[in-house]
Amino acid sequence: MAHIYLASPHMSEEGYEQQYIKEAFDTNWIAPLGKNVDEFERELSAVVGAEDAAALSSGTSALHLALKAAGVKEGDPVFCQDLTFSATVNPVLYEKAVPVFIDSDRQTWNMSPEALEKAFDKYPNVKAVIPVHLYGLPANMEQIMKICRKHGVPVIEDAAESLGSWYHGQHTGTFGDYGVFSFNGNKIITTSGGGMLVCNLEGQVQERIKKVRFWATQAREPARHYEHKEIGYNYRMSNIVAGIGRGQLKVLEQRVEQKRHIFAYYQEHLGNLEGISFMPMHEKERANCWLSVIQLAQECPVRPLDVMIALEKGDIESRPVWKPMHLQPVFAGYDYIDNGNVGAELFRRGVCLPSDTKMTEADLERICSIIKDLWVKK
Ligand SMILES: *Cc1c(COP(=O)(O)O)cnc(C)c1O
Repeated sequence: MAHIYLASPHMSEEGYEQQYIKEAFDTNWIAPLGKNVDEFERELSAVVGAEDAAALSSGTSALHLALKAAGVKEGDPVFCQDLTFSATVNPVLYEKAVPVFIDSDRQTWNMSPEALEKAFDKYPNVKAVIPVHLYGLPANMEQIMKICRKHGVPVIEDAAESLGSWYHGQHTGTFGDYGVFSFNGNKIITTSGGGMLVCNLEGQVQERIKKVRFWATQAREPARHYEHKEIGYNYRMSNIVAGIGRGQLKVLEQRVEQKRHIFAYYQEHLGNLEGISFMPMHEKERANCWLSVIQLAQECPVRPLDVMIALEKGDIESRPVWKPMHLQPVFAGYDYIDNGNVGAELFRRGVCLPSDTKMTEADLERICSIIKDLWVKK
């Protein structure tokens, strides 16, 4: 039986991606930039409801330039969601700023507004706040934006995992001053690697996006010779990569439907097992269900590791929940504002189940039967 991945690239059945790439080859727009980049920026902006976007080489580079655009400097405190992938935090260190980790809440699994308030009391000089929409679950943007607006601090939404996720009728990534998306290989749509930065500051979008594109292309001043007044980066997306993105964007809705079906299938077939619970869903929200995640309660007869090992024996990939940043050796020594250690608990008790959109119903059946067997044996 074929190996089952947690989440792997899934190109369109129609071959849209190759059509756009072929067009780039035919017109020799391999690099630099070109029509696919311009169109991908326009098309992604339309999907999420942003005014404009900058296509970049990764979600990480998009976060980095968002921090620069927000004016974060050496020594500045930056509030980062604690339960996330390290790429949320690394760019803060690239700028020699100081991350302060904010615990999650049980309702959203994302940044706790209560812990965020506490953090503002302790660090009134904070320069940016980075909430994350983990696994495509929207963070509590209503409360987070209210608190950050009150303090006049810019918000950078890490929407790397939440393309296709909506909150209160608005796409995630468009609430904060800046929003960041990723097209890395494991994300809901992929360009093999890439990212996008959107700006939501009314009246300032064009100027900010222009600046981001400037930094991303080595900060070359408009002169005939090479003139530089600022440090630049080589962070722009290539025209070939953007072609893959344009094709993938056409199947985004289909992928969201497939991911949501996978989650519903697990809920239906595993929901009765003792001690199991699922990642939270709320009214007025649509999560893209990038990964389907379960929790196994303390009193549950089966442990997360049992599930992962049993699946592994069947050549099926699964993963623990992200390990919180304050528990990472590389970030030891940075402050952490806890909310009852919700993130650490989610990490300890969680399993990310296979969520690959290429799985068949038979694959899902096999996965569920392996998992259910663990309860029968106990
Ligand atoms: C994937 C991811 C990133 C980084 O995106 P890349 O395109 O891989 O650089 C950032 N934050 C989160 C939460 C992610 O999952």
